[in-house]
Amino acid sequence: MKPKVAFFDFASCEGCQLQKLNCEEELPLVLDAVEIVNFREASSARSDDYEIAFVEGSITTPHCVERIKKIRAQAKFLVAFGACASTGGLNMLKNFQPLDEVRAYVYGDGAKYFDTLPVRPVHEVVPVDYKIHGCPGDKGDILECVRSLLLGKIPKEKRYPVCVECKRKDNICRYDEGEVCLGPITRAGCGANCPSNAFHCFGCRGLVDDPVTDSARDVLAKHGLTPDEILKKFRLFYGYSEVAR
Ligand code: SF4
Ligand code: SF4
Ligand code: SF4
Repeated sequence: MKPKVAFFDFASCEGCQLQKLNCEEELPLVLDAVEIVNFREASSARSDDYEIAFVEGSITTPHCVERIKKIRAQAKFLVAFGACASTGGLNMLKNFQPLDEVRAYVYGDGAKYFDTLPVRPVHEVVPVDYKIHGCPGDKGDILECVRSLLLGKIPKEKRYPVCVECKRKDNICRYDEGEVCLGPITRAGCGANCPSNAFHCFGCRGLVDDPVTDSARDVLAKHGLTPDEILKKFRLFYGYSEVAR
């Protein structure tokens, strides 16, 4: 019997699900090993009988809360898939504005019909077994997660910063090019994707465990950023953490 896998989306752009579909070369092998019973972007199949749930998106409404609880009750293993699900991602920007203003801005006169809550990552509402970080979730991480689950193992999250992967690749540091970069305090796992393509890390995988944020602030300030600019940089993807308050 193949394990049954379901994909679900909450508040998100659905780019993480698309990233799964981008694993074109590996998809036939994945489909040999698992049965996908729910995946709105790719299939009309709908079933509530599954063991593994990949959940994309943040929890932002009372309906989201009810729905994620039902998914958790069914799934033996629940993966928070992508930044919106694992840290709140870009959606957390909403929490720095008055909720009524945000609602009125988006829905205008119809705002009263749309209930809203402060944004939360999935683990703030139900227990999560594993997090795939990044915006979008990294293809390599997705495949490693599926492979580990099929072997009955829980994959390990990277606990070191992007700089480690960047140095391994012998990239030119963006600071040496006169830019600023959040790699020193951002969780690795993307293979230093942005610096490897001559772009700075903007923190999409969220903060690494035990980040040295005071030093990171000092370095950003030394490179000319004002406290407000630093806060804006931190809020883009670290919104769930204290450093962005
Ligand atoms: S993490 Fe990024 S790519 Fe994935 S759903 Fe959220 S906004 Fe889209
Ligand atoms: S470019 Fe960024 S990630 Fe790479 S070493 Fe420099 S600070 Fe670290
Ligand atoms: S380098 Fe930074 S912003 Fe770019 S993919 Fe990796 S974690 Fe995300």
